[in-house]
Amino acid sequence: MSKGFLLVLSGPSGSGKGTVSEALLKENKEIVFSTSVTTRTPRPGEVNGENYFFVSVDEFEDMVKNDGLLEYAFVHTNYYGTPKEFVFNEIEKGEIVLLEIDVQGALQIKKKYKEAVFIFLLPPTMDELKQRLIKRDTETEEEINTRFRNAFKELDFVGEYDFFVVNSTVEKAVSDIEHIIAAEKLRTKRHSDIKNEVLKQKGKLDDNTII
Ligand code: 5GP
Repeated sequence: MSKGFLLVLSGPSGSGKGTVSEALLKENKEIVFSTSVTTRTPRPGEVNGENYFFVSVDEFEDMVKNDGLLEYAFVHTNYYGTPKEFVFNEIEKGEIVLLEIDVQGALQIKKKYKEAVFIFLLPPTMDELKQRLIKRDTETEEEINTRFRNAFKELDFVGEYDFFVVNSTVEKAVSDIEHIIAAEKLRTKRHSDIKNEVLKQKGKLDDNTII
């Protein structure tokens, strides 16, 4: 069995990461979501342990001190981080682990884990992104403006990612990501024992005769 891998999905607030991830997870049981830890307050409807693990700043700092996070960052006005243990366990089991994280976190992962796959989700236009932020009605006007300004900064990093996907429709974005995953699964470097696997299927390892 080949090992799983990290699938890092970033994109500005309002690009639709949450909706795309949810649809992707629903249709692909081999992908598991890494629930992040955050110091932000829950939005209406968000569930502790599902959307995020909501913790205090003290608790977050303890996790950092105890080396419990794979990466972490201060995004907008809060801390966010990826719990380490869960990710490693799932990868060992052969799962694809989806990290929905910001650019700063993705760059930390890129330095440490060469085998991770990086996808940047783009909105169809920046105007559409602003409309989505306004429509979801979960942030104050000031927060929306912060997120919109940050979106432009995040776009500077799109070239650091392996792939970009335009979220014009959720179906198309999910399908593009599924194609990326399919190709990634076929990378020879993810199958160090591929020669023996093929030979085993033929039945004889040591017979080079043609007939
Ligand atoms: P939101 O507050 O809208 O849920 O998330 C704000 C930003 O934080 C998003 O760009 C999201 O991808 C990012 N984020 C969520 N979890 C993590 C994490 O564990 N690490 C990092 N670096 N960013 C995260």
